[in-house]
Amino acid sequence: MIKKEQANHKPENKIILLLIPPLLNFLNWEKISPHYHSLADIVTDRKGKLIKWQKNPKTDLISLAKSLDGTPFNKKVSEILRSPAKRIIFINYPLTKESWEVLEEKIQPLKLKSVCVCVCVFVSLSESLALSFAELQKEMMICPVCKRSYKKKETIQEKAFRCPVDEITLPQEEMEKLTDHYLNEYFNQVKSLIEAYRGKKNKIIPMELKMREDLEPTILQNYLIEKIHQI
Ligand SMILES: [Zn+2]
Repeated sequence: MIKKEQANHKPENKIILLLIPPLLNFLNWEKISPHYHSLADIVTDRKGKLIKWQKNPKTDLISLAKSLDGTPFNKKVSEILRSPAKRIIFINYPLTKESWEVLEEKIQPLKLKSVCVCVCVFVSLSESLALSFAELQKEMMICPVCKRSYKKKETIQEKAFRCPVDEITLPQEEMEKLTDHYLNEYFNQVKSLIEAYRGKKNKIIPMELKMREDLEPTILQNYLIEKIHQI
């Protein structure tokens, strides 16, 4: 099995961890490339845990969501890592030091060259961009299963949010709080996460958004793809 892993993977191949504010995670990654992997592909059953919570909520949604962020990787991750793709891209995961260490162990036998993991992160927000960001925050909701963001007007009905991908329904009021929580958490945690990712073989690549237009889906998508292809 180990021999097969090495045979499929060339040393110059890259594993890219793309960190973006979850509010901007509205792109259809699967359509962009089969080598982008979001939560649903790489961790164990988040949806099942939410359905259980729905039936018998013992905590608030934020507390549950926090525990879900340490969810372990599923078996598919090793399969994905063995793929001969030039770039394998994980979006907004791992989100804790512990899960990062687990992934690092899985990456090690692949014997990639000097730059084996690239972390892309938005590090700064200008004042006008922060305003547009706040406007966007009012319009969107972040699903706790897939952690993608969706327009409220397309996903809210009778005070409940329904994720078009996961088909899970959650109360709007709790979802509003959760969306705020995810954003605060992202900006609070991003620096310590970068420190955790930093290592001898890892390269940190900062990305910067400058203008309101940069939040437009097509512009944002092209920017991300362009940056990733330069890696
Ligand atoms: Zn979802």
